[in-house]
Amino acid sequence: MILDGKLVAQKVLDEVRAGVARLSEQAGLQPRLAAVLVGDFAPSRIYVGNKMKAAAAVGIASEDHVHPGGLDRAALLALLGRLSADPAVHAILLQLPLPRGLDEDEMLAAIAPEKDVDGLHPANLGALLAGTPTVVPCTPAGCLEILDHYGATLEGAEAVVVGRSRLVGKPLAQLLLARHATVTMCHTRTRDLAAHTRRADVLCVAAGRAGVITGDMVKEGAWVVDVGVNRLETGKLAGDVEFASAEKRAHAITPVPGGVGPMTVAMLLRNTLRAAERRAARR
Ligand code: NAP
Repeated sequence: MILDGKLVAQKVLDEVRAGVARLSEQAGLQPRLAAVLVGDFAPSRIYVGNKMKAAAAVGIASEDHVHPGGLDRAALLALLGRLSADPAVHAILLQLPLPRGLDEDEMLAAIAPEKDVDGLHPANLGALLAGTPTVVPCTPAGCLEILDHYGATLEGAEAVVVGRSRLVGKPLAQLLLARHATVTMCHTRTRDLAAHTRRADVLCVAAGRAGVITGDMVKEGAWVVDVGVNRLETGKLAGDVEFASAEKRAHAITPVPGGVGPMTVAMLLRNTLRAAERRAARR
């Protein structure tokens, strides 16, 4: 079975659109997302552009703060502080990676936690670890949404997450753990990657290495979620999982593109709506 991220993302976007309309009707409030882009990294420009377009399509207002020539530490801190204090802004997206010389940890911590739409503020990551999730990082949340939509059983499942980044691997492992999976995390120092992945009922891969998981590393009947996005020399996009061989053994698998990618934007907009709803409840 091919897990269709576009279809599940559309379902989430429809729910967000309905939620935006409800909020406008009941509280007279339109969610507003502020995107901050520092530097001149072409893929980031495209990502931010796509997120803004998707926001408009569901009725979320947005503003972008684009600084292709860069910003120094004090200026970026001031901008994030200003947006955090601005009652008209409900959600702040700081596009990563930041140019060299700017400390991502420091900048993420400068965003008001309740407006941190990517869920990467230490307070939000801490809440996830504590088992009281607040804002959940978008890509891991999207992985769970796909698995849930197609009815994967997580409770008691052997789940293996390849990759341990703050952005994907670590929060994804926490979400799976919270759903009572038995979770193993793998990384570059893992001794025998295949020995772990072959035990996985649910295999989530976020390594950023094309083809790091081949079909023989997949358990027969597994659910495979491929987060990786890699640009091949041919110009084509490929995931971290070798699709053709893995598809033969997996029960279900996400394609790249068209799997996790569309989910990330949908979850970002859901997080924006929720931030605005929380704001309306506090008024
Ligand atoms: P990252 O920060 O580079 O982290 C990669 C992780 O994978 C690290 O923990 C690394 O281990 C591990 N890893 C790398 N090579 C490995 C190998 N051969 N075997 C086992 N583990 C290995 O990347 P990220 O930000 O998590 O992103 C991962 C991938 O997901 C990238 O392709 C990225 O483009 C993609 N992504 C997609 C979306 C989406 O919306 N679809 C969103 C975010 C990211 P160490 O910790 O030991 O170095």
